[in-house]
Amino acid sequence: MVAVTTHSEPLSSVLETIGETPLVEVQASPLDVPVYAKLESFNPGASIKDRIGKYMIEGLLEQGEIEPGGTVIEPTAGNTGIGMAMAATQLPVEATFVVPERFSVEKQILMRSLGAEVINTPTEDGMKRAIEHARELAAEMDNAVVPQQFASPLNVAAHRETTGPEIYEALGGEVGAVVAGCGTAGTLMGITKYALDQHPDTHITAVEPEGSLLATTKGEDIEEGEYHIEGIGSHDVSTNELFEPELVEEVMQISDRTAQEELKRLAREEGQLVASSAGAASVAALDIAERIDRGEIDAPYDSVVTVFPDSSERYLSKGIYDSYEEWIAED
Ligand code: PMP
Repeated sequence: MVAVTTHSEPLSSVLETIGETPLVEVQASPLDVPVYAKLESFNPGASIKDRIGKYMIEGLLEQGEIEPGGTVIEPTAGNTGIGMAMAATQLPVEATFVVPERFSVEKQILMRSLGAEVINTPTEDGMKRAIEHARELAAEMDNAVVPQQFASPLNVAAHRETTGPEIYEALGGEVGAVVAGCGTAGTLMGITKYALDQHPDTHITAVEPEGSLLATTKGEDIEEGEYHIEGIGSHDVSTNELFEPELVEEVMQISDRTAQEELKRLAREEGQLVASSAGAASVAALDIAERIDRGEIDAPYDSVVTVFPDSSERYLSKGIYDSYEEWIAED
C-alpha cells in the first residue's frame, strides 16, 4: 500500500497525497554521520497521523470490523483525530473523538471542521480515561468501532508498509540507526520492523519526555513527572500495547527545556517549523549520530533517521515559541 503519487499529475482525493514525504538532513549533524528527518507535516492533515487515519479505516472496512455508514470512535491526542476525520470524509464512515482537554485547541477545531464530533475528557484523568470512554460509547452504538491506535496492529502496519520503505528508498537502504518519539509507538515499531528486516543490526532508539515511563520497560529506575512535550510519552505503560521494548536498544528521555530549545534552533538555523516531539527526536537523533561518530555505537551504516511528526503552527496558541517559562505555564 505504498503511496505512489509523484504529485505531478491531477489527483481525485486529498487522501492520495498522503505519504511520500521528504527526507531532509538535519544540518547540525556530525559531518560523517548525517541525521535525516522525515518531514511529516507535508501530509495533507499536516502530521504523521494522516498515514494511519487512512490505513486504519480502510483496514477496518476491509476486515468487516465496521460496515459502510458506521462510526469510528477514537481516543486521541489530536493528530490522529485529524487524520481519521480527513479519511472519514472520503470513506463511508462517521468519526467521533475523545480528547483529553489539555491537547491543543487548533487540533480540536480542525477535527470539528472535518465534520467529526469531539468529546473532551478531564485532563487529570489522562489518556486512560479517554480510551475507556471511547470503548463505552462504542458499546452503546450499532456499527461502531474503536480503531484503538494504542493497540491495533494496523497502526504499526501503516508505518511498516509506507514510512519504512520510503526512508529506505530515499537512502538506498543505507540506514544505520532509527530514532523516533513514542506515543502509541506505532511509528517507531512500524519503521523498526521494516528496518530490522533490511538489516538486523540497525540501532533502534525510542524517545520520550523526561517524566514519562516507557524507560521503565528497559529496567530503568526513573522518576515519574509532568511533561509538556505533546504527542509522545506515557504515564501508564500498560496502555502502550504496541511498544516492544526488546526491539529497542534504549529509551532516551529528553526534557521539555531541551526539546523546546531544539525546536527553536531548528526554526532559526534550519528553517524547520516543527513542534516539540520533533525537537525531542532531533536532540536524541543527533546524540546517537555523535555516538556512532565516536565509535561508541556500532551501527551498520553511518547514518541516522528520525521523524518530525508535525508542525509548530499547530501549537502557536500554546506558546511554543515563547520563553520556556511561558510555554510551560500554558495549558
Ligand atoms: N508526535 C506527535 C506530535 C504526535 O501527535 C504523535 C502521536 N501521538 C507522536 C509524535 C508519536 O507517534 P506514535 O503514536 O506513532 O508513537
